[in-house]
Amino acid sequence: MSIAKFHLREPKNEPYLSYAPGTPEREALQAELKRLKSQTIEIPAIIGGKEFKTGNTYDVVCPHNHGHVLAKAHLCGEKEVAMAIDASKKAQKDWADLPWEERAAVFNKAADLIAGRYRNLMNASTMLGQSKTAQQAEIEAAGELCDFFRFNSWYYQRLIEDQPYSPDGMWNRVEYRPLEGFVFGVSPFNFTAIAGNIPGAPALCGNVVLWKPSPTAFYSNYFLMTILQEAGLPDGVINFLPGMGADVGDPALASPDLSGLHFTGSAGTFHHLWKTIGNNIETYKTYPRIVGETGGKDFIFAHESADPVVIATAAIRAAYEYQGQKCSAASRMYVPQSLWSDTRAHLEQEIAKITVGDVEDFSHFMGAVIDKKAFDKITGYIDKARQASDAEVIIGGDADDSVGYFVHPTVILTTNPHFVTMEEEIFGPVLTVYVYEDAKFEETLDICESTSSYALTGAIFARDRHVLKHMADKLRQAAGNFYINDKPTAAVVNQQPFGGSRKSGTNDKAGSIPHLYRWLSMRSMKETTDPPTDWTYPYMG
Ligand code: NAD
Repeated sequence: MSIAKFHLREPKNEPYLSYAPGTPEREALQAELKRLKSQTIEIPAIIGGKEFKTGNTYDVVCPHNHGHVLAKAHLCGEKEVAMAIDASKKAQKDWADLPWEERAAVFNKAADLIAGRYRNLMNASTMLGQSKTAQQAEIEAAGELCDFFRFNSWYYQRLIEDQPYSPDGMWNRVEYRPLEGFVFGVSPFNFTAIAGNIPGAPALCGNVVLWKPSPTAFYSNYFLMTILQEAGLPDGVINFLPGMGADVGDPALASPDLSGLHFTGSAGTFHHLWKTIGNNIETYKTYPRIVGETGGKDFIFAHESADPVVIATAAIRAAYEYQGQKCSAASRMYVPQSLWSDTRAHLEQEIAKITVGDVEDFSHFMGAVIDKKAFDKITGYIDKARQASDAEVIIGGDADDSVGYFVHPTVILTTNPHFVTMEEEIFGPVLTVYVYEDAKFEETLDICESTSSYALTGAIFARDRHVLKHMADKLRQAAGNFYINDKPTAAVVNQQPFGGSRKSGTNDKAGSIPHLYRWLSMRSMKETTDPPTDWTYPYMG
């Protein structure tokens, strides 16, 4: 019981460290990489605060050095899911009853631990397990993750202050209750920050969560779970269930106590989960909230008034950072004929400077793609372009999986705006360019608008203000995160709330007040101060 009204101050985005040569952070991160590489850990399930080792193990390896085993993860199934549901039920009431600021304190403390003493652990484990460069790990496994925890706490404080109008003689209130039952959180491999927000946002709102991380992110995600525990997360509030998709998903979705699904991953998986929930709908005690952020086929569209060097620079960062494995990665680009020769020359000149390799060598711009399946899929698309009559690989295309899953930055040039690599999500370092006649600007804009079933991110480049306005209007529904003269990646919490529509997701904007509403169920309360004693109305006289 609190006897004061507490207040969180507005947070600031966590500043990024540079890791430039000679900096203390570079040395400390390199030491942490070495320490983690020198051991093979076991990753247990964590249910009701206790570790469980199932004995059915899965090798977690470095994508850039797949012979190196970082961890043996104990895989969960039906039995562990049942235990986790039980543990979450036990934790539910006390957690929901805890004053909101006590819950927020757990996530704020976790953010401070991640920003401070565990920064190197979070970054190094993300680098080794997910093959991110130091810079790509820093901006999310430290930066974005801290931002999610701190800003969501502050958003929650603001959200619950919103109360309805009360006329004289009446007191109207709303309570922001957590959902009844457990939230099933399913996270993707590509962002440690998203993995933290998947269970974190519902838990902050007073919910209990079963969290199923991605097998190729078990490593960093396990450390994150232990940091949440150290920050004071009560047992059973978040239950960590490393497991393969359906082994955990089927029993979790079959439970009548499912109150929500918080998912980020591919559209195909999301369709499957949504359909399963639909099929089970009669068995649930409440209608489960479904929040899902899925794939993208993100575009760059240049107008003839744009600067070719700016276009090429944005394309390189957006298409190749983290090997193109961002849902927001640029993967199709529309360039007017008049700018193509200069844009191409700059792409060729700069991509030639990019090196791909072991992320422990800080000189590399790119590491490996996540696993063999991704490697085969990406190289399959490159082969399709090599064999096609209406496309050619003009830059890169090399790939080698003998030591790590390395795919070099690749540009495909096509004469067909509907070529397969202009339409399907590849999730690798492959950018396809369609060069349009300057006079066909309008019809090419239409093609860009309607080509993809996704609508996640997009970027337009032009100098002319009328043109920028026109492009933004015409592409209004083509992207949930829209960039003007900037690359379509790297959204920051509290600056560009993130999410897409169409087949890119439910667009609930992770890291925003509207997102938190999805994990709350409001109760309206009306209290009359002087209740009537006569049931008749004046008109009856
Ligand atoms: P994925 O769909 O392969 O896997 C996502 C998660 O779903 C993993 O944890 C996986 O194990 C789990 N899963 C698979 N089948 C399941 C089942 N039957 N039951 C329960 N869980 C199941 O996606 P991925 O390869 O990890 O991530 C890449 C995808 O995520 C890309 O499509 C990318 O665009 C998307 N993504 C989107 C956003 C966004 O904000 N829109 C952000 C990051 C990633």
